[in-house]
Amino acid sequence: MFKIGCHLSISNGFLRAAKEIVSIGGNTYQYFSRNPQGGASKPWNQTDFLNFKEYAKENGIEILLCHAPYTLNAASKTPETREFASMIFKDDLAKLEAFGNALYNFHPGSHTGQGVEIGTDEIVEILNDVLYEEMTTTVLLETMSGKGSEIGRSFEEIANIINRVKLNNKLGVCLDTCHVFSAGYDIVNNLDEVLDEFDKIIGLDRLKAIHLNDSKMPFASNKDRHEKIGYGTIGLEAIINIINHPKLKHLPFYLETPNELNGYKEEIELLKNNWRS
Ligand code: FE
Ligand code: FE
Ligand code: ZN
Repeated sequence: MFKIGCHLSISNGFLRAAKEIVSIGGNTYQYFSRNPQGGASKPWNQTDFLNFKEYAKENGIEILLCHAPYTLNAASKTPETREFASMIFKDDLAKLEAFGNALYNFHPGSHTGQGVEIGTDEIVEILNDVLYEEMTTTVLLETMSGKGSEIGRSFEEIANIINRVKLNNKLGVCLDTCHVFSAGYDIVNNLDEVLDEFDKIIGLDRLKAIHLNDSKMPFASNKDRHEKIGYGTIGLEAIINIINHPKLKHLPFYLETPNELNGYKEEIELLKNNWRS
């Protein structure tokens, strides 16, 4: 089965977003755990959650992807920002246990000038603090474009984090097509080689989700500007290759393209028409 969806708001609840994704032809969605630019989260609504669970079961929604807020920066030079990251991590992971075997995606972090090495140490420290043996959620490090002082611009930087975390059986990776292309991985002309490299450095068994985006920016530009599917520098043909690649086609794909619901609907239809079972 082709697992395809997009980013949706859950400000009106999990059920409402589930109905939205089904109405546009998808079967999974990504949502922000809380205000992406802040930290506030709505109080947990158990009735909505139970209604969602029932609706999801009836409609073939098997998995959701929860995205941490952008304000979570585990690599910041500011201690208060790292404490905040720790707090958000713990709170979000506690909530996600309601789902069981959930996926939680976060940006590894920006070192804000203190360098990749120190930033990496701090990400590892926070992950070692917040991951725990009994959790069922898998925490995904997102591959980044390398803008500013972002960590996670290369497979090596991601592997350096994963390899140093004690409970790294709780860790996986979410590959963002726009970000890796901007970071200099040529998924348009050399997809096989890029996936071989991912496998060698991180391990393809770690790959749990794909952010499926075209890019407004040229290859290896280290810029992070998403584009609608087929309208950017990656292009439709390469995106169709990605969703059909034997090493990727079983994964859930999430659109984070600049679209309203109708635009997402068209993209989901286009992708479904081009996914070969
Ligand atoms: Fe992201
Ligand atoms: Fe992304
Ligand atoms: Zn992005």
